[in-house]
Amino acid sequence: MMTPADHDLRPLVGISACLAGQRVRYDGRDKFSTLVAEQIAPHCRLLPFCPEAVAGMGIPRPPVNLIHTTDGIRAVGRDAPHRDVTDRLYTVAQAFSNSYPQLCGFILQSRSPSCGLESTPVYDPAQQQILDPKGSGVFAQHLRQRFPALPLLEDTDLTAERIALFLEQVREQARRWAALAIPPSA
Ligand code: SF4
Repeated sequence: MMTPADHDLRPLVGISACLAGQRVRYDGRDKFSTLVAEQIAPHCRLLPFCPEAVAGMGIPRPPVNLIHTTDGIRAVGRDAPHRDVTDRLYTVAQAFSNSYPQLCGFILQSRSPSCGLESTPVYDPAQQQILDPKGSGVFAQHLRQRFPALPLLEDTDLTAERIALFLEQVREQARRWAALAIPPSA
């Protein structure tokens, strides 16, 4: 799969598409991050990706929550709990990671049932009570399992120190790919 600019040798970093300014959220809005645009984007090739839009869930779309079940954590409709979209989101996550195995980092939107990283509430099956306020979304969870060393950063963690550390980790990841004689892009 082609990257946004294949001639650009800066490290490839994924980003939740809503943080990049795309209007892909369930309510049809974005979550554009000025900090990302000004302090991270100049150093990377940003690859916006919205798992829920790619999964065909629509824009806008009915909201989804994570719930704890006997089959593990599932992503289901907030107002239609019979609508389980976990497998669709997992399939999209797998396709993404297969397409970009030399990714150097990912910037994630917090509290999302897809993109949240230890920030997404996990409810009981009736969605009345939060059992765990620090769950991870289906996409974020997949990224962490597939690429344990991949630098990850949430939008709620954009301090100067964390951004500097993230960029150093991204460069280190790019050096690892280079050492393996693999270009830092898919
Ligand atoms: S699924 Fe991720 S990228 Fe898409 S709108 Fe939600 S948080 Fe943003």
